[in-house]
Amino acid sequence: MQPPTATGSQDAVLNLIPSDEERQMRDAVRGICSGFGPEYQARLYEQGESPAELWDALAEKGYLGVNIPEQWGGGGLGMSALAAVGEEVSASGNSLLLIVVSPAIAGSILARHGSDEQKERWLRGIAAGTTRLAFAITEPDAGTNSHNLQTSLDRKGDKLVLRGQKTFISGVEFSDAVLVVAPSRSPDGSLGLPTLCIVDVDAPGFTRDRIPMPYLGPDYQWQLFFDDVELEEERLIGGENGGLGPIFDGLNPERIMGAAIACGAGRRALEKAAAYANERVVWGVPIGSHQGLAHPLAEAKIELELARLMMQKACALYDAGAPGAGEASNMAKYATAEAAIRCVDQAIQTHGGNGVALEYGLTQMWWGARLTRIAPVSREMILNYVAEHSLGLPKSY
Ligand SMILES: Cc1cc2nc3c(=O)[nH]c(=O)nc-3n(C[C@H](O)[C@H](O)[C@H](O)COP(=O)(O)OP(=O)(O)OC[C@H]3O[C@@H](n4cnc5c(N)ncnc54)[C@H](O)[C@@H]3O)c2cc1C
Repeated sequence: MQPPTATGSQDAVLNLIPSDEERQMRDAVRGICSGFGPEYQARLYEQGESPAELWDALAEKGYLGVNIPEQWGGGGLGMSALAAVGEEVSASGNSLLLIVVSPAIAGSILARHGSDEQKERWLRGIAAGTTRLAFAITEPDAGTNSHNLQTSLDRKGDKLVLRGQKTFISGVEFSDAVLVVAPSRSPDGSLGLPTLCIVDVDAPGFTRDRIPMPYLGPDYQWQLFFDDVELEEERLIGGENGGLGPIFDGLNPERIMGAAIACGAGRRALEKAAAYANERVVWGVPIGSHQGLAHPLAEAKIELELARLMMQKACALYDAGAPGAGEASNMAKYATAEAAIRCVDQAIQTHGGNGVALEYGLTQMWWGARLTRIAPVSREMILNYVAEHSLGLPKSY
């Protein structure tokens, strides 16, 4: 399969029967993840550690760069392959939020818009998994309205100065740098179009505060403060005011990976629920014999499979550079989030009191699943997109 291209589009192929290559890759990722099971996950949970060993084990075999062009050390297999990796990692009960951000968002953007020097400096390491980039667009006052970003880039001689604040930024503690979206300031003092810049996590003037959250996986969320952080020109992707195109090229991979992770979580929840419903006997028969319990699980399974199909369609369209990839990625993100929430909720219900006992591992899944309705793009903003772009309804905001 050719790596995605920004311009030309190929025939989009939706393989309903996984190829041998895909099957082998999924088996291999599952095999690696099986070495990082409940004990490993509990250790990260209890000690607040980053998932470095799992990340390195997957990176060593090239699985964290499967979407990145071969020329830069990746697998050249597109988003279909990275989504398969993300889904299997999530189905194993592990969480690697940076897989959404580093290879999917930053990797896709750099592959299309980075200079050769930037690709050598950043993309090669992202493909190898040895360099990790977080991604920062959300701001406290702008929220969903990314037209209102206030973090600014001011020119000062041959340098640029970054000032402002970001919020809810994932995995900064486990990253080398952050890909920051900030509008450039025009000579008249107004803020222009977004610019994309890469900021080292230890750059002078860059500080962060952790945002306390329920357990969402081993990655933390941060508020970032840029207090006159100086940047060289070479840190800009797409040049000053040139960030819009690159950002859009990172959004579909982001939504696809959000969908893949939701699918993995849904699969895991249903596996746990079915196993428990077959085992647990209270009225002389396994609880799964009662349709009151079996039907909601069956409905959740159908919804998950439908949503997964939309995710596969989004991957196929994106990898072919075909029209409709944006619509399908948004729909996949919406549908997989709703399906995953339903699967996890029903799995908790199936377990009765054990659904909230830490030992059964479902409460640890709840907030991660619930998050998929909010981030990386909220359910409402997807509905806005579909209403406007798919149905031709007036823009509502
Ligand atoms: C755990 C976590 C991790 C995250 N990681 C990152 C990250 O790594 N990088 C990053 O940049 N961001 C990240 N985010 C931010 C995330 O993308 C935003 O939280 C999300 O997009 C919603 O923005 P907001 O929180 O500002 O909500 P707001 O914009 O304040 O919206 C609040 C509610 O109003 C709804 N709403 C707003 N406008 C409209 C409208 N026009 N029509 C209908 N409904 C509307 C929203 O859908 C939402 O339900 C993360 C968030 C969380 C919680």
